[in-house]
Amino acid sequence: AVPTGAVADPEANARVRADDRAHVFHSWSAQALIDPHPVAGGAGASFWDYEGNTFLDFSSQLVNLNLGHQHPDLVAAIQAQAGRLATIQPSMANDVRGDLARRICEVAPEGMSKVFFTNGGADAVENAVRMARLVTGKRKVLAAYRSYHGNTSTAITLTGDPRRWANEPADGSVAHFFGPYAYRSPFHSASPEEETRRALEHLEQTIILEGASTIGAIILESVVGTNGVLVPPPGYLPGVRALCDRYGIVYIADEVMVGFGRIGEWFAFQAFDVVPDLITFAKGINSGYVPLGGVIISDEIAARFDTVAFPGGLTYSGHPLACAAGVATFEVFARDGILERVRDLGARVVEPRLRAMAAKHPSVGEVRGQGLFWAIELVKDAETREPLVPFNASGPDAAPMAAIAAACKKEGLWPFTHFNRVHVAPPLVISEEDLVRGLDIIDRALDVADRAAAG
Ligand code: PMP
Repeated sequence: AVPTGAVADPEANARVRADDRAHVFHSWSAQALIDPHPVAGGAGASFWDYEGNTFLDFSSQLVNLNLGHQHPDLVAAIQAQAGRLATIQPSMANDVRGDLARRICEVAPEGMSKVFFTNGGADAVENAVRMARLVTGKRKVLAAYRSYHGNTSTAITLTGDPRRWANEPADGSVAHFFGPYAYRSPFHSASPEEETRRALEHLEQTIILEGASTIGAIILESVVGTNGVLVPPPGYLPGVRALCDRYGIVYIADEVMVGFGRIGEWFAFQAFDVVPDLITFAKGINSGYVPLGGVIISDEIAARFDTVAFPGGLTYSGHPLACAAGVATFEVFARDGILERVRDLGARVVEPRLRAMAAKHPSVGEVRGQGLFWAIELVKDAETREPLVPFNASGPDAAPMAAIAAACKKEGLWPFTHFNRVHVAPPLVISEEDLVRGLDIIDRALDVADRAAAG
């Protein structure tokens, strides 16, 4: 049965907390300094704990829960598949795996008709890079400083954000570059068009100085996710495509966070008039109900492995339970008009409210985004654009952001905060009423940011 809501259960709360603290080693954390919130259940855009609190989830967990908690169609599809064939190894053909691969290729650009399935985003990135290196015979990969590509060996090296640092020195065949970011442009551009032109000049210079003969791939998030919800300015992605063509470089679009509806498109690059060679996906393909990711491959690259073996594989590649949830996702998207809904809610509800917050709160430097994927960038001073907290702040330096998050949680909203930003990324199935309620909570929490900025 689908659980229906929060009930205080102090005994369960204590037990869950005790087992977790004693035995679960958590990601990205100093183990003694964290206090993970016990979660009892969830439905739709909300989840609840054992203390009687229900939270509206404005982060969709890790921006993966696109269809919300306990979607009945996804749960039923997994249950039915578990009753039929719970697992099968990847070198056998399987109905649900083939069905999902066909559906993915139907919404991908023409000329991309093969899918390699993985367990998540990082291993999708690993395998896309491997394909690019094999088909070009060139090992170096370019990635943006403001990026996250996953936490396996190559993926964390490609990642531009500080999560890379602890892994260094690493495999040297990666170089980083500045992508467009008009609000903090290292190019000092005065307009989006100028930002595009200068960012492309910088990328071409990087290619030339790193050596086009050494570079096998460029990997780019189509809309940069965790590092700021950076929507590319007009012409940037097509410009990257042109540079890849000129220098014989494979263009990998990392769609792990933005693919499958986050901005109201199947793939975010489809809003920017470009076709990559390889697409990595995960998260939204099945809302993370069972781990799944993959690489969508251009026919030209796929053909290179027609008579030469592709040297890669995973025991759970195309796991039937994960694929069943993926097929159900496609059915829900079509039946409920999810993409149209995201575009409508983004333009009609989220954007005007965030713009009003930017006008009202002195601490809001910029709001930006598309669909149900937005960032509120907070500053101490709108003139100098000094961030509300320093880059990569933690502990006491990050206290203002912790206070904003606490103000949201107190009112029943689970926010996504990162560095000096509050992101807005609710499940795509959120009701309009809940969306407005959540935005109102953020609006009130920004009073905390204003006071912190005023010092
Ligand atoms: N690429 C991007 C753009 C991501 O946002 C993420 C995860 N946040 C990954 C790759 C890695 O995915 P996973 O955590 O499933 O390995």
